[in-house]
Amino acid sequence: MIPGLMQTTPLVTTAILNFVEAAHPKVEIVSRTVEGRIQRYDYAGLAARTRRLARALRELGVKSGDRVATLAWNTHRHLELFYAVPGLGGVLNTVNPRLFDDQILYVLEHAESTVLFYDRTFQPVVERLAPAMTTVKTFVLMSDAEAHDPGTVGALNYETLVAAQPEEAFDWPVLDENGGAFLCYTSGTTGDPKGVLYSHRAVVLHAMAAGLASAFGLTAFDVVMPCSSLYHATAWGLPFICPINGCKLVLPAEKMDGASLQELISAEGVTFSGGVPTIWTMYLAHLDQTGGSVGALKRIIIGGSAVPRAMAETFKRTHGVEVLQIWGMTETCPLGVVATPTAALAALGEDEADEVIWTRQGRLQFGIELKIVDEDGKEAPRDGATSGSLLVRGPWTIQRYYRKDEDAADADGWFDTGDIATLDHLGFMRITDRAKDVIKTGGEWISSIDLENFAVACPGVKIAAVFGVPHPKWEERPLLVIEPHEGQTLTKEEVLAFLEPHIVKWWMPDDVIFAPVPLTATGKIDKKVLRTTYRDRLTGG
Ligand code: ADP
Repeated sequence: MIPGLMQTTPLVTTAILNFVEAAHPKVEIVSRTVEGRIQRYDYAGLAARTRRLARALRELGVKSGDRVATLAWNTHRHLELFYAVPGLGGVLNTVNPRLFDDQILYVLEHAESTVLFYDRTFQPVVERLAPAMTTVKTFVLMSDAEAHDPGTVGALNYETLVAAQPEEAFDWPVLDENGGAFLCYTSGTTGDPKGVLYSHRAVVLHAMAAGLASAFGLTAFDVVMPCSSLYHATAWGLPFICPINGCKLVLPAEKMDGASLQELISAEGVTFSGGVPTIWTMYLAHLDQTGGSVGALKRIIIGGSAVPRAMAETFKRTHGVEVLQIWGMTETCPLGVVATPTAALAALGEDEADEVIWTRQGRLQFGIELKIVDEDGKEAPRDGATSGSLLVRGPWTIQRYYRKDEDAADADGWFDTGDIATLDHLGFMRITDRAKDVIKTGGEWISSIDLENFAVACPGVKIAAVFGVPHPKWEERPLLVIEPHEGQTLTKEEVLAFLEPHIVKWWMPDDVIFAPVPLTATGKIDKKVLRTTYRDRLTGG
């Protein structure tokens, strides 16, 4: 080859901030604060405050390569840290506050973070864990100056630090696009949390791709409210995707209950939102109870767990809102596939097209390759029926976990997601299970996701969880745990009768239990806990 003769401008997050300040300076950012206020400013304001924050971080001694941690909700201050820390060449370690104490401590210690920014909500956990932290030297409370409380850790105040810095220009350092920008840990449902270190290049390419019409399809007319957490895989990249596309940004802080979502969606004219299914279950229940309207809301991206078909259908038929299912993981920045229509799908007719969109995790997107392999690693046919292990690769897929000696991807770059899936000839992917959740019964497999999807459509059901437990004859059999909507009562007979027309006989759960369904730190059904709790249900042990 001969060298190309074009510029090699690095793909870094500061470029997004500079772009949005020049292109969309007056587009609004609206944030709830933990104090309960609504904070309004714009992208020019974000850029100005981020520069001051960057100066303050330098004064605190943050250098290129240093890790700075947050325990924080979806607010404008957290957003400012998203740009200031990586902009300085540092790494933002967004810690999931829903983890257990020892996991939070593990993450902070493993990342060797030196500064910890936290919201008032997390003051108790910070004070509890501070004596055991060996690397964090500086604590900063992200509150209004008047509401400051240094607590037992002698915290500095975020607003006081920013206010002390001048308004003038700031020379962002020139960065290597392959340098680390964000350090996100998986939730650690099995073993210790694992660190995934996103490079600037991965974050920028991911954000450029996610905005495309084939994916989120955002324009400068959109008002976007991320209800996926900033601490979980960078809220699916929305803090970068929105400025690239000139979208107004609405940040809900920790208020993700139905009534609070409804309030912001209608008051701010939100057109596009995203979050895990449990959030939208609460939102739909609220609309149902109050007869409220969705306002300007047009599209919602839902992922993290399988989207119940009934949820997508209700959004479309009752509220005129299009649901785009997405699949991804911390290890893929996180976007893998998005379920958007194509001409080939539309040609099948609206009902058929809806059926595909509502029951698939999404379709292939440029930048992330997918393949399905059998137990011997041989590629499975793309027939929509043959399931196998889902492997992915591409410029925003993990190569190696943080501080591990071995690659997580194989020599060709393929990373095994731990999911079982099918792929079809139109490029649509369907997850049938996580490999560890597959129910093996009499030599056959039952998809817990499919069973849950049918069960959650039963009137009165809020959450349905299906998992396998040991059985003396069949190795494993499925159990169904149901958490009903508030004030609703259901019987086992009703639920089984509802399932009957949808499933083959041997898929029928051996028992139905009515109980609260435990969720993980990232809002997924915690099957590990369920399997342990009901381990002896069918063996009588
Ligand atoms: P955690 O830390 O909880 O594992 P991740 O976001 O990394 O958080 O979880 C990724 C996993 O979530 C995927 O491997 C897959 O099993 C599941 N997942 C994500 N999106 C979907 C979806 N749309 N349908 C089914 N499962 C999904």
